[in-house]
Amino acid sequence: MASADSPEDMILAQAAGYRTFRIRTPEESLQAKESVCPASAEAGKKLNCASCKACGGTAKGRKGSIGIIVHGAKAKRYLNQRNESALTVAA
Ligand code: SF4
Repeated sequence: MASADSPEDMILAQAAGYRTFRIRTPEESLQAKESVCPASAEAGKKLNCASCKACGGTAKGRKGSIGIIVHGAKAKRYLNQRNESALTVAA
């Protein structure tokens, strides 16, 4: 499983054969074959990693990827960086 900080990262990682754990902005929707992390606030924190294990490789036939809305102490910095990247691309 590969970490992805943007939809572009996700596409590159998946093209290389990885499932992805993608951080997304609140405005970004989940992509095809991507599920919300059940430990996230947006999923109601209904599972923890010990009971979920979706990030635990492919041994149990896991094929999908995971998305989670950015959160925590570095969320503001992440959103600022994403906004700066979007402005750079648009310029
Ligand atoms: S194992 Fe499950 S709960 Fe833990 S980070 Fe991965 S998707 Fe979220």
